Amino acid sequence: MFSLPPLPYAYNALEPYIDEVTMKFHHDKHHATYVEKLNSTLIGQDELLNKPIEKILGNLHKVPENILQAVKNFGGGHANHAFFWKIMSGQHNQEPQGQLISAINQTFGSLIKFQEIFSQKATTLFGSGWVWLVKSPSPPTGVEGQVKLDIVGTVNQDTPLSDGKIPLLAIDVWEHAYYLKYQNRRVEYIKAWWNVVNWKEVEARFM
Ligand code: MN
Repeated sequence: MFSLPPLPYAYNALEPYIDEVTMKFHHDKHHATYVEKLNSTLIGQDELLNKPIEKILGNLHKVPENILQAVKNFGGGHANHAFFWKIMSGQHNQEPQGQLISAINQTFGSLIKFQEIFSQKATTLFGSGWVWLVKSPSPPTGVEGQVKLDIVGTVNQDTPLSDGKIPLLAIDVWEHAYYLKYQNRRVEYIKAWWNVVNWKEVEARFM
């Protein structure tokens, strides 16, 4: 059975950028519901119940057709939120460093340019979904390859894990992520969210 991971910080740790009430509802209600519905979807599926959710989502062809959409919705909802809590931090205004910032500069030109493209994608993603910074899997040993970073959008609770990509960073642009504080002002939410990005965690995933 899957369980709801605790928030790695206090509900108010992301204030004033993301408010305490939003975090309580988002974690305790929305994320919890994805976990409950994932567990009820997988009743009797012992093999799947014993795998990490990331493995299931990375191998959707192994999921029976009759529960495939439910696994994408609720399994994705669980994995995406568990990831989202970790790539934010109460230690505000961090900056990317080391090989991560080198790769960002190499791919996008600069951190500012990267943030512009990512924010634009998050602003214009229609409906509910996520925008991600992803890394393509390492090339086979012995093959020289440049690390490939990319920005991708997914709808609903779909995840780049299902396309074989490695998520480094993501923003939730479902209205439930920002409506209580920002109402329909998604642009303001995105701008504020950059202040709580846990760049140390992003860098660890990149490495
Ligand atoms: Mn959400």
